[in-house]
Amino acid sequence: MDYYSSQITKLIEELSKLPGIGAKSAQRLAFHIINMPEDQVKRLSEIIVDAKANVRYCKECFTLTDKELCPICSSPRRDHSVIMVVENTRDLAAYEKTGKYEGVYHVLHGAISPMLGIGPGEIKLKELMQRLQGDVKEVIIATNSSLEGETTAMYISKLVKPTGIKVTRIASGVPVGGDLEYIDEVTLLRALEGRVEL
Ligand code: ZN
Repeated sequence: MDYYSSQITKLIEELSKLPGIGAKSAQRLAFHIINMPEDQVKRLSEIIVDAKANVRYCKECFTLTDKELCPICSSPRRDHSVIMVVENTRDLAAYEKTGKYEGVYHVLHGAISPMLGIGPGEIKLKELMQRLQGDVKEVIIATNSSLEGETTAMYISKLVKPTGIKVTRIASGVPVGGDLEYIDEVTLLRALEGRVEL
């Protein structure tokens, strides 16, 4: 039985497909949206459509951006010879928040996971190797300390080592299985400063 109008039900259904939104939150959000002034709802929906249409991968580091090159890759103040490899854009944001990292990034968009059937071809590894043909002095592997993150780190170090470029791994001060984005800035900085050569 449909308690609500079918349109509200549809809205609740769509919202509950979002990550972290359970049935109850979806209901709460749906009613909140219905009670919002019409122009605010319009603005919200337009922003979603615009973001989807304009946001793309930076052609250099593959983070999400709305230009061809993200602000980090296009900045002359960054050290382009040091590349920090992260699993996703949220991890990049976590390191950026420390304000202390001066190199650039490479966003893999995932990690190798034999269990989930994610192989090296499914993440942006080929693209990383292409970047290493330029003037690169160090690759800092900052994948998570989960099984997938460690597997990916090992795989990358095996790929990069023969090129003669220095490969480092952030220190294990990052708790095991810890998602980088939830770790505080001090811990992140300590992990970066204490990185070890592989
Ligand atoms: Zn970039």
